[in-house]
Amino acid sequence: MGGRRDQPGKALVIGSGIGGLSTAILLAKLNYQVTVIEGNAHPGGLMRGYCRQGVECPVGIHYVGALGEGEPLRRMLNCLGVGSRIPAERLGRGGAIDRYLFDDAFSFFLPEGMDAFEEQLRLSFPKEQGPISAVMAGLREIAARMYRLDVICSAEGILFDLQYLEALEERLVRLGCSPRLRAVLGVATTLMDVSPVECPVFYHHVALVSLLFSSWRLACDSSHLVDAFVNRLRELGGTILSGDPVKGIRMREKRVSGVLLQSGRELNAPLIVAAIHPRIVLNLLGEQDIRPAFRERILQLQDTAGVFAVHLGVDAGRHPPWPYNVYRLHNDDAGGIGEGAFYQLRRGSGETNLLTLMTHSFPGEWRDWEGTTSGQRGSDYEEAKERKAEIMLEEASRLCGPFSGLKKLDVYTPLTLRDWGHTPYGSAYGVRRSTRQLLPLISLQRPAAAGLYLAGQNAWAPGIIGTVMGSYQVVKSIVGFRRFQEELIRGSELEGP
Ligand SMILES: Cc1cc2nc3c(=O)[nH]c(=O)nc-3n(C[C@H](O)[C@H](O)[C@H](O)COP(=O)(O)OP(=O)(O)OC[C@H]3O[C@@H](n4cnc5c(N)ncnc54)[C@H](O)[C@@H]3O)c2cc1C
Repeated sequence: MGGRRDQPGKALVIGSGIGGLSTAILLAKLNYQVTVIEGNAHPGGLMRGYCRQGVECPVGIHYVGALGEGEPLRRMLNCLGVGSRIPAERLGRGGAIDRYLFDDAFSFFLPEGMDAFEEQLRLSFPKEQGPISAVMAGLREIAARMYRLDVICSAEGILFDLQYLEALEERLVRLGCSPRLRAVLGVATTLMDVSPVECPVFYHHVALVSLLFSSWRLACDSSHLVDAFVNRLRELGGTILSGDPVKGIRMREKRVSGVLLQSGRELNAPLIVAAIHPRIVLNLLGEQDIRPAFRERILQLQDTAGVFAVHLGVDAGRHPPWPYNVYRLHNDDAGGIGEGAFYQLRRGSGETNLLTLMTHSFPGEWRDWEGTTSGQRGSDYEEAKERKAEIMLEEASRLCGPFSGLKKLDVYTPLTLRDWGHTPYGSAYGVRRSTRQLLPLISLQRPAAAGLYLAGQNAWAPGIIGTVMGSYQVVKSIVGFRRFQEELIRGSELEGP
């Protein structure tokens, strides 16, 4: 397939989100001639925010974990060559990263650091010392493995470890955790829109542990972040084509040979990485190009919900940025956390700070406008958005106090994500990481056809850290462990700080 120094090979990467760009950079580092193809006018996918009334509104990055010096995400980004180019500010220094506020007035403040978290749990749940010790042992084990980046640096590259495939709820009940403790521990599953009843322990632990390492918010416009990736790829000789979506993947003698773009242009390469939703990949292939069992599995996969988001400007003098995030949560007697909301108040521009309110929302809620496109959905859609936004603002004000100098910047629905992000049904985190669909999830980690690999949040794990980790994994499967280790890992920060 090429890519060796003496024999450069061509690679095409479909999609320029963080998954596509980080995979492209790794392939370019291995001497592939890489072209990234993006359907939107600008690269970046969910990494890219947008500006309203002079205020930058984020889309797919509100905060990330493990970006501190020597921590896993930082080391992976450094190895790509972008780590030092991304200004970020640390959340929670000495206080909470996240405030969990339950609707029955119970609250739990998530601190930074494993020890502080354990102490906080022991203080909040004094009668549950035994279960807390058992839970912490599992979290510390995953933290140690994440710190060593075992999943990337080992030959197996197995993301699933049998003992961590159990559902979180099942494990916590088995360990004797009370419903309240289960609810607190389960909040991290909302980051992937999967209930604790279905969330494999592994995904939950990775999500929670990465935030406990340290939590960060971007301290730059998202275009700066995207530019860091794009410029790095260009330095390595890679190319990006934007505004021309892939309409078909070409196959010859049962292996990929190139792509057809909407403009009619054709690009050839024996290696294609599709960093897009797997159902979109199916649409790009002919019926006979892919194993029927594989197609069937992908068609059966359930997706996560979309997001309804409200961006508001508030008076910066009266409302300085919160150094934490707020989760408004519903607690049921069984330890479930129901549908809640996420609030963030961050630096905006000049005298305006940005208040973001988000909740999960299925496109069924927006069924009446399913056949419409962004900007042309009509006044009744705008009114429905306004009504929901008002309710969310009332709830936020009840919990956090009234906000002054309010101005509405933007409201978006899962339909916006569907049309803008090209995700089926506007799903926010792609396919659902559920114990019910482990088999199809595992099959996404294998080549879909000879020379065709999946990357991005759907292939390995969602979120920024999961997606970047997945990019390393897919490149390892493409070039083989030996070469991956010799040319990317050995002597790099991935081996350890
Ligand atoms: C509202 C929201 C908030 C989030 N908040 C956080 C957070 O705070 N922290 C965190 O860690 N994660 C968060 N996430 C998740 C995180 O953003 C994603 O996991 C990650 O960005 C996914 O990257 P990706 O490269 O897989 O996909 P994307 O960024 O979706 O990139 C896919 C790209 O492929 C392009 N594309 C699709 N089809 C084609 C085609 N046929 N031809 C060419 N191009 C195509 C799309 O236009 C898009 O640019 C959030 C997600 C959402 C939706």
